[in-house]
Amino acid sequence: MRKLAAGNWKMNGSPMSLTEVTLLVKEHPAPRCEMLLCPPATLIAQMAWHVRGAALKVGGQDCHTAASGAHTGDISAQMLADAGAAYVILGHSERRADHGETDALVRAKAEAAWDAGLTAILCLGETGAQRDAGTTLRVVGEQLAGSVPDGATAANTVIAYEPVWAIGTGRTPTLDEIAEVHGFLRAALAKRFGAEAAEMRLLYGGSVKPSNAAEIFAVPDVDGALVGGASLKAADFGAIVAALSA
Ligand code: PEP
Repeated sequence: MRKLAAGNWKMNGSPMSLTEVTLLVKEHPAPRCEMLLCPPATLIAQMAWHVRGAALKVGGQDCHTAASGAHTGDISAQMLADAGAAYVILGHSERRADHGETDALVRAKAEAAWDAGLTAILCLGETGAQRDAGTTLRVVGEQLAGSVPDGATAANTVIAYEPVWAIGTGRTPTLDEIAEVHGFLRAALAKRFGAEAAEMRLLYGGSVKPSNAAEIFAVPDVDGALVGGASLKAADFGAIVAALSA
């Protein structure tokens, strides 16, 4: 399995930000893990052109379920692929919260992503209240069952466990808590997809930074990270890539 360091720029970045990308690929020309950045849609084509031939893949942050049509403001998976994307993040908690995305919608988007040849990074995770109530495993189990389509394989799907309360807060679960959720997700995937589950990448996301990356990557069943804030700077994201490549 090739581990994955994925960066989510969210609604940040401008053409000027490509200087960070230049630095990143210069410092990490041949990482042992897969390296991915998901900029806002406006930068995908430019970034993909900028890094052509380099060991950096580019992805989107969302897609529509339809291939084309009367959906003002939306972007189809095929359009992301045409722009040079290889991946798309789906069901991020910010989209679930800001746009009311349900598991069923995320599942349909994943199928659209596959149809366009993209790998879907499917996000799930509990809120702080759900963790406090002791329902974390039930919540992520339901999200996994509802968001992941039946045709999932290690090639077309990546799962990202992102506790909502850890995103952008500087707070992270304990290593034991991460291990518990990732072990649970691996077992749930194995029950549904058999041997394929061992090859499916499970990312941890939520306040990953250079100072905690190595200890998080040492947790069993953590196969990489989905990184928000720390993916905006080449030095920070590069240090995370280096920790995953160690
Ligand atoms: C994210 O939004 O996917 C994320 C993990 O953000 P951050 O790393 O900033 O917590």
